[in-house]
Amino acid sequence: MNPPTPLHRSLEQELLAVLRGASLECPVCGEFVLHEGAVVRCPECSMQLHGRIEGAAGAGVQSGLQAG
Ligand SMILES: [Zn+2]
Repeated sequence: MNPPTPLHRSLEQELLAVLRGASLECPVCGEFVLHEGAVVRCPECSMQLHGRIEGAAGAGVQSGLQAG
């Protein structure tokens, strides 16, 4: 019985951890991210996170992660 936990779920939790400062590694490439006010960005892969996804499904986060 595998739990219904697709990659998306764990990725979202990774993003939340980064936004909260609990994690400093880019969930995309693993490099250290930079905190610039409410924005967290990765200088390596240009990923950007906006720190306003409290309690939400993180719809705004996904759009920044389509680098594939
Ligand atoms: Zn990155």
